Amino acid sequence: MGSELHEIIKLIDLFGIYFVVVPYLANRFGHYFRIKKIYNHKKIIKVSVPPKYKKKYDNIELNKINNKTFKEVALEFSKVLIEHFPEEALTNFYNNLNELTIKNNKLIVLIGAGGCYAPLNNSITISDFDAIYHELFHMASRLYSKVDGVSYVGFKQRSTKLSKITYNGIGTGLNEGYTEVLTYRYFKSKTYSSYEFETDIARKLETIIGTDKMTELYLKGDLSGLINELKKYMPEDEIIKFITRIDLINAYEIKHKSIIVRESIFDIYEFLLKVNALKLKKQYDEGLIDISTFKNLSNDYLKTFEDRVYVSLNEYELKNIKEMYEIILKDINAPGYIENHSNSK
Ligand SMILES: [Zn+2]
Repeated sequence: MGSELHEIIKLIDLFGIYFVVVPYLANRFGHYFRIKKIYNHKKIIKVSVPPKYKKKYDNIELNKINNKTFKEVALEFSKVLIEHFPEEALTNFYNNLNELTIKNNKLIVLIGAGGCYAPLNNSITISDFDAIYHELFHMASRLYSKVDGVSYVGFKQRSTKLSKITYNGIGTGLNEGYTEVLTYRYFKSKTYSSYEFETDIARKLETIIGTDKMTELYLKGDLSGLINELKKYMPEDEIIKFITRIDLINAYEIKHKSIIVRESIFDIYEFLLKVNALKLKKQYDEGLIDISTFKNLSNDYLKTFEDRVYVSLNEYELKNIKEMYEIILKDINAPGYIENHSNSK
């Protein structure tokens, strides 16, 4: 869950249930501003490069976690991370873990959260125990630079100097999606079903970037590194647009169907299909794959795109994905595409 909930949780902690409604409404109100802001992606954004911090701890101590169950879970989580990821990708994890606090607060269910991670003070609040692995991944991928006032959490980054209502940072959607990919992969835990679209998109992007590279960038909080990977194939403004379209869908909770959402899904799909085709074309041009491999891999990727997509329980039908992909192949001068057409004349 997003960090913007943390202010609300602080209020709940102070005043209890009676005062929940006011910040809840403030948050909903802010939500509509954010939709407007996100949609206008050109107004955003300078993506910052995360600072390189040194590892502060070599041992795992967990001194700040009092609850025995949480301590055990944090230990289990640590073992899995140390086993699966290279040491140099775990600097943020080591720096945060020993200073992490975890507490229970059933009241955050009222704002629809099973858990919440606050990057500025490195603390997890849990109402639904199953949410803990997801929130621990936020912890493991966080760094906060007091110097530039930017918090980096996985693929999300946000300046703490800008207004909360109008600026929710960039990368929230992709970050929540990839956090779910990892939570399910390593802990078989599917925490937030409301992130299903984002999770699917994050998985499709991982197919292009590669698992090792993508997890490394995530754990380092390096959105700019991810953008650099994609810049091999696409200009930066297209990449920013792709990322902010996922943010828009992530923020969109309006219950009726919306043209903005449909267009955004289409843009997101078009981006992924184009980047994947360009990546395969590059491999073909470099003599790494032949035409039939190009076609097979290209078709396999296309098949992972459903023509029915659910966002906030609304079904969106996207009938013309195949036609869109044909146009992409033609546009990029894909191997075999022109030959096929001249043969059929
Ligand atoms: Zn989350």
